[in-house]
Amino acid sequence: MIGLEVHCQLNTESKLFCQCEAYLSDAKPNESTCEVCLGYPGAKPVLNKRAVDHVISIGLALGCAINSETYFSRKTYFYPDMPKNFQITQYEVPIAMGGKIDVNGSAIRIRRVHLEEDPARIIYANGNLETTSYVLVDYNRAGVPLAEIVTEPDIKSPREARAFLDKLSTILDYLKVYDQARGASIRVDANISIEGGERAEIKNITGFESVEKALNYEIVRQQNLLRLGRKIERETRHFDEIAKTTSPLRKKEFEEDYGYIFDPDLPVLGLSEEWIAGIRGSMPELPDSMVERLARDYSISRYDAKVIVYTGSDFAAFFEETCRLHGKPLAVSRWMTNYLLKSLNWRSERISQSKVRPDTFAELLGLMDRGSIGERYAKELIKEYVDTGASPSELARSAGEPLTPEELERTVKNVVSENSTAAAELREGKEAAMQYLIGLVLSKTKKRGDPREIAKLIRNALGMPL
Ligand SMILES: [Zn+2]
Repeated sequence: MIGLEVHCQLNTESKLFCQCEAYLSDAKPNESTCEVCLGYPGAKPVLNKRAVDHVISIGLALGCAINSETYFSRKTYFYPDMPKNFQITQYEVPIAMGGKIDVNGSAIRIRRVHLEEDPARIIYANGNLETTSYVLVDYNRAGVPLAEIVTEPDIKSPREARAFLDKLSTILDYLKVYDQARGASIRVDANISIEGGERAEIKNITGFESVEKALNYEIVRQQNLLRLGRKIERETRHFDEIAKTTSPLRKKEFEEDYGYIFDPDLPVLGLSEEWIAGIRGSMPELPDSMVERLARDYSISRYDAKVIVYTGSDFAAFFEETCRLHGKPLAVSRWMTNYLLKSLNWRSERISQSKVRPDTFAELLGLMDRGSIGERYAKELIKEYVDTGASPSELARSAGEPLTPEELERTVKNVVSENSTAAAELREGKEAAMQYLIGLVLSKTKKRGDPREIAKLIRNALGMPL
């Protein structure tokens, strides 16, 4: 059984309880700090309403009930990442409770969604947790608002955990409560137990692939212990990204061990019907309903609609804008989900961070429609286009003028006469020889020309039936 606690850095301008910028680009360590987020005595926190809005909208999107009143508690612990020696979080009454997410047909229940402040970032100066001789602490992140989304232990496999996280993060992206491009991250604590054993918690895993790997490792470790007749300890473990193993961090504390106390600096927060209704009214379209709409309105397959929507809200917006400009959704969808996505992934870029724009992408598709470039050449061109963002017509022009039929025929004749062995093999019916000759022609024409047309010309040149 697997349960997850997902921490999502919320998309706000300022931190949760002070005016410091939450995401300062190019900030030096400890630059975005003040007496509140550094926890000076007497400094008073003031709640950021936007962060509460975001958690309410997450709760509504996940089908949770929103509590009419909520309040904040101090979670006491002693680590260098918390200058106050406590973290302001919600314990007794979270903002939202009791929702679910459908993941490939199975319902993963959501226990609660609450708001808390992020601790500081700890940097292991030389090496990792075990090997470092000292640590550096950067308080720029201290006080950034986090939504914590806690599931019931409903997840049945590491693979399902990953599918759940993919879906959840897409929902957070569409809600615009989470902005990866600004440097926000999602960090996961995973609780895992196998039949009859205590549960172990793996802390602070970043990257959904790592979550899957950590869980896989942990299941095998626990199975091996049980097979040897040993007991599984209740403990907190650390996942090593490089070794892909988990190691013990500390004996698991129970929630009560933290000594939660009501935060006297923050008043009880009433969440009125009007407040909640206002957020419900301004909720954006959610991924699952968008998949249905794209498939219906653009007559593309549900599979393609899913790829477009789940690649991200920026990708989906790009699709709709290109369709508006180009008018052929099937072609837009095919070229986006195959070749464009491949080039972006290769550069590890989101479409909103790339140089690619709907008007220039529509221009590329237009060149193909008019027969100015062939598909094969377009697949080459798209890489250069994604690299540079330059106009596809310009790129095609600088690669050379379109080939005339006479030029192509001349090139074919030359290639056939220079390669008599391959030509003889082709006459004997060896198809590999045809591929070889087509390849030679394409390399001479710098990939211009349609392979089917070239094959025809080769047969013609050899006096073979078409
Ligand atoms: Zn501050």
